[in-house]
Amino acid sequence: MNREDTIVAVATAIGESAIAVVRLSGPTALPIAQKVFRGKRKEDITLLPGYTVRFGRFVDPQDETIDQGLLTLFRAPHSYTGEDMVELSCHGGRAIVSRILETLTQHGARLAEPGEFTQRAFLNGKLDLAQAEAVADLVKAKTERARRVALNQLEGRLSEVIHGLRSDIIGALAAVEVTIDYSDEVGELNYHELESRLSPICQQAICLANTARFGRILREGMRVALIGPPNAGKSSLLNQLLQTERAIVTPIPGTTRDLIEESLSINGIPIVLTDTAGLRVTADPVERIGVDLTLKTAEQADLLLFIVDASDLSSLDTLSPLPVMEHTGRPTLFILNKKDLITNQALEQAASQVRQRFPHCTDIISISALTGENIELLRDKLLQLTTASADIEGVLITSARHSQAIQEAVHHLQEAIATTRQRLPGDFIALDLREALHALGKITGETVDDEIIHRIFQDFCVGK
Ligand code: GDP
Repeated sequence: MNREDTIVAVATAIGESAIAVVRLSGPTALPIAQKVFRGKRKEDITLLPGYTVRFGRFVDPQDETIDQGLLTLFRAPHSYTGEDMVELSCHGGRAIVSRILETLTQHGARLAEPGEFTQRAFLNGKLDLAQAEAVADLVKAKTERARRVALNQLEGRLSEVIHGLRSDIIGALAAVEVTIDYSDEVGELNYHELESRLSPICQQAICLANTARFGRILREGMRVALIGPPNAGKSSLLNQLLQTERAIVTPIPGTTRDLIEESLSINGIPIVLTDTAGLRVTADPVERIGVDLTLKTAEQADLLLFIVDASDLSSLDTLSPLPVMEHTGRPTLFILNKKDLITNQALEQAASQVRQRFPHCTDIISISALTGENIELLRDKLLQLTTASADIEGVLITSARHSQAIQEAVHHLQEAIATTRQRLPGDFIALDLREALHALGKITGETVDDEIIHRIFQDFCVGK
């Protein structure tokens, strides 16, 4: 991709619409626009100042009118790409748009690659990489929450947090390096001081890394595994939850096809519920496969919903939920179903029995999947467990690329702290601090190579 080219693309969706916008960006954007635009005042538009709008006709190379519309002019560096830019707003019809594009390319513009406008904005320093990626997220945002998060990222909130972390690390690194190079003058490295300096930095990086979980949930949905013995009321509960949220069902690619998956949304947060086979202790090899599958689903889930028939807790003896809850460490919400069948006192007893047997369970709630009692409460609990540690003041890691980079940074910060505790020479600590810096720099784009940048922008649409 040659940055000296002047590029052109339709910035709006193709089809019939009131208007369509064709964008031109590059060193010859103004002279090319001058050739296709005939304003009423017959001005030389290459001489007009930035932020000028003119009404006129768009003409082909034979000076035949294609359409009429507006020309908006931006001058470098005060444009989206940082280059001279022109936006032609014409009527939104396929024939008009393709004729205008054809004319512009005849005058020397080149059709833009996907994401090339935003890539130029990044290369010209108008946006950092995290902000540039936010443009695509913002356009793709389907929920209010996703829109706000993407906007925050576009406005540079994530970048601010990353810059803050990087500058703290640079400070610590400088303190280490000065004792390596000038130990005679400044004395030995103060390990204790360094550790208390690095710990909060690492803590903040961990908090940021944790928000990635919620970012993924916003994107792919909260994975909830519904576990329980046959007849506990799994299907009834599923129906209750789906009934109330019938309007919003998002298809999300599932991981295991052998399990029943249902998608719903609670307050704009997508939830993918997987109905699993019961977790019985069994010698039957076929049933064992089902149980293994359930265990696997449980391991991949963000939350386990353990449902039992409160009027018949005998099933608890044949279940083996304990290893799942212990091994996966997943939050587990215990649901005592069929509360309509028993007295409050019996319900209390059932709850304390569950609490005793399953000390790992996060919470217990009693419902009736038949009458719908406490379903609202269950929805609130689900929401509460989903949004716990959701974001840091509106900043949220939503991309897998960012998440990986932060995890790398956390790893190196933890290594640096461990080396500090071991009182190892400053060189070792500095090594990990530099790696942490490098990892964080990948998010904002200071330390990524061209190959990665190219791949990131390829995922954009043409015209962005
Ligand atoms: P699953 O096998 O776990 O999916 O359980 P189902 O949802 O099929 O329910 C098994 C039986 O229990 C059905 O006859 C349901 O009508 C009944 N059932 C489910 N939930 C309740 C409830 O809250 N109260 C009562 N009384 N019956 C329920």
